[in-house]
Amino acid sequence: MSGCIFCRIIGGDIPSDTIYENEKVKVFKDISPAAPVHLIIVPKEHIDDINSLDAENANVIGDCMLAAKKAAAITGVSESGYRIISNVGEDAGQSVRHLHFHLVGGVPMGEKIL
Ligand code: AMP
Ligand code: ZN
Repeated sequence: MSGCIFCRIIGGDIPSDTIYENEKVKVFKDISPAAPVHLIIVPKEHIDDINSLDAENANVIGDCMLAAKKAAAITGVSESGYRIISNVGEDAGQSVRHLHFHLVGGVPMGEKIL
């Protein structure tokens, strides 16, 4: 069992503002939001990042995207739109080494990714 910060949030040791949760995935508000809606979507299974996915564990991505869809509806951005990002490694600025997706929305973000 990893003691990473997101595993501790999943385990309940660190409080979070939970938006949606099921057996496989937890969605909570980012502590330092970059947009009016900024959620973190994490698989409950500890996986470092997308580089660590394989045929055995890749199904967590579908679970995360279904949870993202639900969380978008709960936070009211399903129709206005949102962006989902997963940072991998140094150049992307990944700061928490537990696979996660940012869901950002609630403001027009333009068409560019960078
Ligand atoms: P990344 O830079 O892609 O690894 O994203 C990590 C994100 O986790 C950052 O946006 C942080 O603000 C967020 N974060 C770190 N600690 C917490 C926490 N305790 N609760 C909620 N979000 C957090
Ligand atoms: Zn973890």
